[in-house]
Amino acid sequence: MTSTLSSVPFVDLTLIHDPLKPEIQAAIQAVMDQSDFVLGHALTDFEIAFANACGVQYGVGVACGTDAIALGLQACGIQPGDEVLVPANTFIATLIGVLHAGATPVLVDCDPHTALIDLNQADKAVTKKTKAIIPVHLYGQMVSPHQLFAFAKAHDLIIFEDAAQAHLAERESYGAGSIGLAAAFSFYPSKNLGAFGDGGMVVTQNETVAANLRSLRNYGAPQKYVHSERGTNSRLDTLQAAILKVKLPHLEQWNRERNFAAEKYDASVLLMREKGIIPIENQSADGHVYHLYVIRVTEDCAITRDRLKDQLSEQGIQVGIHYPIPCHLQPAYQNLGYKEGDFPQAEKLSQQILSLPMYPGLTTHQINQVVSAIQSTIN
Ligand SMILES: *Cc1c(COP(=O)(O)O)cnc(C)c1O
Repeated sequence: MTSTLSSVPFVDLTLIHDPLKPEIQAAIQAVMDQSDFVLGHALTDFEIAFANACGVQYGVGVACGTDAIALGLQACGIQPGDEVLVPANTFIATLIGVLHAGATPVLVDCDPHTALIDLNQADKAVTKKTKAIIPVHLYGQMVSPHQLFAFAKAHDLIIFEDAAQAHLAERESYGAGSIGLAAAFSFYPSKNLGAFGDGGMVVTQNETVAANLRSLRNYGAPQKYVHSERGTNSRLDTLQAAILKVKLPHLEQWNRERNFAAEKYDASVLLMREKGIIPIENQSADGHVYHLYVIRVTEDCAITRDRLKDQLSEQGIQVGIHYPIPCHLQPAYQNLGYKEGDFPQAEKLSQQILSLPMYPGLTTHQINQVVSAIQSTIN
């Protein structure tokens, strides 16, 4: 091949892992030596460390982010028959979590500028059965804590955060994971803090919620072989916790690098407004942790989002769509009774959004490559 253009991956995890190899290998070795593979020391250590990093007291490691939502809601007392408000524009796992908790998800449209749940719309979706709202801190940006507090207070609702994309995000001086009764995190490998496989955690300030979770994740047995409730088996592996514990001290720096990359993108993308390209709005300054950097290819653009995506791929630039089909239009959930047109903003976003390469270690040169590829395609 004689191509002079080098490709830009969507995510490259080797950049952050390579320098940590000796430390990670030692951590794995230590678990092997102790053989405490399930509910071991490294898990307890990491639970404390991660909860502290979120500014809360308790952390309970579970098998994945989806379980963190499902078990977390149950631990907060959510029951079958309860309605839980969920944004239509989120990863499907938010919805699955609610359904696995036995509750009824009630979808809500989003703000077209931030792509976050629209609390004015949420207001209209509240019924007598509504027990909780799940703000999803999508793309790494928190839903406004002040607005959430006011909303939850007005309707007497529990706030349960889906912080799967927002490790260490901040807004209005609050940290992600610290504003709800509890919050769910995912350690899926490509998340801002990722394991070498699946993992998740619920963090909470509430001792009872934490105790409920420890029981629920462990067969519903607060004591060995005494099953006082219907639990399951969902624990964060000691091995994964040991790896995550090595990575955690670097998370802030990695988030800074994401922010830095986002600033670079912003500087160029803001000049494309006349051409119909608009970035998803950052309303939380450097509290945004940019799990994803998302632009909108609007009606004013010379080409469609899908055409732009294809053309970028042809030039070796990997991009993504988060997410191409809003939750209410997913085939598996038609029984919820929603139809096309129910959530116009989420539907429109799903046609327009495009996620650009974003990861710690993304270089200025690569960002320029992405930007010029977009410029040459839309002009
Ligand atoms: C990743 C993600 C989840 C689910 O986490 P898993 O660990 O993949 O189960 C839930 N909600 C959101 C918003 C996510 O991005």
